[in-house]
Amino acid sequence: MKIHIALAGNPNSGKTTLFNSLTGSAQYVGNWPGVTVEKKEGMLKGHRDVIIQDLPGIYSLSPYTQEEIVARNYLVDDRPDAIINIVDGTNLERNLYLTTQLLELGIPMLIAINMMDLVRKRGDVIDIQKLSESLGCPVFELSALKSEGSFFIAEKAILLARSKAVPTPAPLLSGPLEESIDKIKNIITDCTEERLLPWTAIKLFEGDEVLLTCSSFADEVLDEAERIAEKTEKLLDDDAQSLITAARYTYITELVNHAVDRALPLHAMTFSDRIDSIVTHRIFALPIFAVVMFLVYFVSVTTVGHFVTEFTNETLFGEWIVPSVKNSLAAYDVAPWLISLISQGIIGGVGSVLGFVPQMFVLFLMLSLLEEGGYMARIAFILDRIFRRFGLSGKSFIPMLIGSGCSVPGIMASRTIEQESDRRMTIMTTSFIPCGAKMPIIALIAGALFGGAWWVAPLAYFVGVTAVIISGIILKKFRAFGGIPSPFVLELPPYHWPSPKNIWLATWERGFSFVKRAGTVILLTSIILWFLQAFGFEDGAIHLVDHNADSLLASIGRVAAPFFAPLGFGTWQATVGTFSGLIAKENVVGTLGVLYNFSEVTEGGTQHWNQFANEFSALSALSFLIFNLLCAPCFAAMGTIRKEMNSGRWTFFALLYMTAFAYVVSLNIYQIGSLIKGEGFNVWTFVAFFTLAVLLYLLIRKPPADLQKVRKRSHA
Ligand code: GDP
Ligand code: MG
Repeated sequence: MKIHIALAGNPNSGKTTLFNSLTGSAQYVGNWPGVTVEKKEGMLKGHRDVIIQDLPGIYSLSPYTQEEIVARNYLVDDRPDAIINIVDGTNLERNLYLTTQLLELGIPMLIAINMMDLVRKRGDVIDIQKLSESLGCPVFELSALKSEGSFFIAEKAILLARSKAVPTPAPLLSGPLEESIDKIKNIITDCTEERLLPWTAIKLFEGDEVLLTCSSFADEVLDEAERIAEKTEKLLDDDAQSLITAARYTYITELVNHAVDRALPLHAMTFSDRIDSIVTHRIFALPIFAVVMFLVYFVSVTTVGHFVTEFTNETLFGEWIVPSVKNSLAAYDVAPWLISLISQGIIGGVGSVLGFVPQMFVLFLMLSLLEEGGYMARIAFILDRIFRRFGLSGKSFIPMLIGSGCSVPGIMASRTIEQESDRRMTIMTTSFIPCGAKMPIIALIAGALFGGAWWVAPLAYFVGVTAVIISGIILKKFRAFGGIPSPFVLELPPYHWPSPKNIWLATWERGFSFVKRAGTVILLTSIILWFLQAFGFEDGAIHLVDHNADSLLASIGRVAAPFFAPLGFGTWQATVGTFSGLIAKENVVGTLGVLYNFSEVTEGGTQHWNQFANEFSALSALSFLIFNLLCAPCFAAMGTIRKEMNSGRWTFFALLYMTAFAYVVSLNIYQIGSLIKGEGFNVWTFVAFFTLAVLLYLLIRKPPADLQKVRKRSHA
């Protein structure tokens, strides 16, 4: 028989960190609720028969968000053999709330007080013995990050699972409340497993929706329980849920007063608080955020990133790989078309994407540092405070922050949003944020057309953020998305020095997926594109063509090119590039690499994207860049949208919205830009002004009266 041990605890208590060190597997460790959305399993190192399960963070066992539901279902229905309840020792009061509920499940359990390194640094003393006596289960100290106590605790959990000893906590309730719960226990005792009695009775008393809808209790039992609850509510003059919550907090306060000796009073300023007073300051918060993100994109694209990319493109590919591959192929008398396929198609396509991978690594490294150190959680907090005024919730920004790595997990993180309308809105806007795969497009345009200008990459990021905010404000005014923004409770974890291991894992996991894609999706697309651009239709048959302008691909591209002409990039190459971006965004660069024969020009050792740059003006390049950043995302992200929306119509609407939004923005940039440059009016100038007017109207109009009412109430 396999032993299943579940790690349960609040978000950010260190479950994933412990899971990683126990199982040795590389899990993604994140700093906000929403990262660990699905249940993850791993084998305990050195024990083939012990399975460790990392559950999503839960604040309490009354589920509100989808990830909490996952955790609760598992604990209540699948019943692990033992629970390791991870408690953040720097935040005992809040964390023990969940503990009091877990104790009622009748599952063998031990408590691991984590972050002991921080607790000690603060000079707090936690009396483990006293905690253990009151809670009626073993309590141990842990520092998951430093792996102090991890395996000891795992061994204890195995022993506990074998012994099947369930917790025997000191009673939580007293007086009339206790009597009512006892009465409910009596009426359900015949149809409920004994060990589940305490938990079920309390949930029935609270009128827990999930339990009421999926349980098999007879109606008489439910009615009786409700009657008891109502009577107690009248007697104690409060609603059932608040009564239980208050009882739990009273219990915890007493317990903590009794067992914890704090060096500083509870509300004293810690080092983290002091940083927060600047970083989350009413006025400075937003400028600081802008500067931080500016630096992230500036460093990863312009300075360090540019340097490594130059090396990979010019030296690695330009001087070493391409010439030597060509020479050796020529030496073996390989057919010219095959040489072209290999050098222009494969190396041109895959190589031009790989050239930008170092930049992605630098970006991911910096994002991981911000995330691990604790700054990302602050950004969500700051944005929540500001955008609540527009009816947007900070929860909508968490997917956006995750989305700067890759839209797929970003879109999945929308599961933390309980309100369906907010969730849909968030899914629709997450991929506006430039993900890692869009970095090559940004870097290419910045390098080839703007001489590596410092402002291009940060601009791309802020265009994405602005698109999210503008869309949020516009959509919120429609009835389908209106309503009170989801409540947002976010624990701000204390700042800490990121662990090199976590940073490395997070960076590597994100970065390597791009290398893998270069070897699969990008490779395949490049080969297909090479064939399509090498062959053309002449005299009723298919031939190799001398100029790719006569190719099949050119004919296909020319069909859609007029659509993009008003945006300033109506060439067949740009059109094909944009469409190939739907497969994977790096493909835009890969495709251009094939079409402008990136490998060929490299050989000269000169500016290898010259030919490409000649076909764009600064304005059309900007328009091309922004359209590709904002339009419908790649297939993987589309699939995720479909899965999360769970509706074909909503998915279609989302993709249409993004593409239309991108079109309008690019149209305005190009047409109004051309006008300013003195190129005079044309039909499209008027169309641009018209769409701009519509956009502004949607932005500033008053929402329908009934939505306004809802808004006011949420302010009160
Ligand atoms: P989860 O949300 O419960 O899965 O928590 P994580 O494992 O993602 O940890 C949240 C944050 O706390 C991460 O930044 C960890 O590096 C950090 N952390 C975890 N355990 C410890 C610890 O023992 N000491 C310190 N100082 N930090 C820790
Ligand atoms: Mg986790």
